[in-house]
Amino acid sequence: MPEKDKNPQKGPDIRSNLIKVNMGGDTMFVDPDQYKPQIEHQKKLKRLHRKPKNPKPGEWLSKDYSKHKVADYKPFNFVDGEGVRCSLYVSGCLFDCPGCYNLAAQNFNYGFPYTQELEDRIINDLSQSYVQGLTLLGGEPFLNTDVCLKIINRIRKEFGHKKDIWSWSGYTWDELQKETPDKKEMLSKIDILVDGRFMNDLKDLTLQFRGSSNQRIIDVPKSMKAGKVVIWDKLQR
Ligand code: SF4
Repeated sequence: MPEKDKNPQKGPDIRSNLIKVNMGGDTMFVDPDQYKPQIEHQKKLKRLHRKPKNPKPGEWLSKDYSKHKVADYKPFNFVDGEGVRCSLYVSGCLFDCPGCYNLAAQNFNYGFPYTQELEDRIINDLSQSYVQGLTLLGGEPFLNTDVCLKIINRIRKEFGHKKDIWSWSGYTWDELQKETPDKKEMLSKIDILVDGRFMNDLKDLTLQFRGSSNQRIIDVPKSMKAGKVVIWDKLQR
């Protein structure tokens, strides 16, 4: 052992739990526990700066992934869009956004099955005059198109356009234009799309109904008519 590495102390060698590192030619003994929080912090930073997944057009099909499950149903809330709303959280999402607000709902098997009983309850809740509409979120509604189209079609049958339908999606408007017929059909039947993955680097909690500044609140019928994205005219921030 080089002279400088020898322990000059008497008694037990307190360096037995330390790790030996070489810094600029000098050998040092450091306590690994001192470095653990930093290592964890670095790992966390790495996780948060990772980007969400980017599917190719038509790569993810609802029929391959959806288990027709619902993570949650929340009637009469004020946070998932304009006015008093009923919110259906479908299960399963593949975007894997770092910082996702609903990790459990990324699992397609999470929650409980979508049933006729639940659908009837949603329709009954929506029939209250003070309820403005239904919000679809998750999870990824566009990877659960069977369930979403079922409730969307029922709402249009029962209420026409008297109740509005909002949907959140990790897909952007432009991506949905190149997607499969079921996703396009769903898009054509909703009123508002809040589009795009949650980007942790662009997180802004002051935004209306969005978590990050890349996401947009899109007026779907107006955008379809214009052939380009038209932002919701009540957007404040
Ligand atoms: S798109 Fe939404 S639900 Fe899916 S991982 Fe991203 S934040 Fe989570």
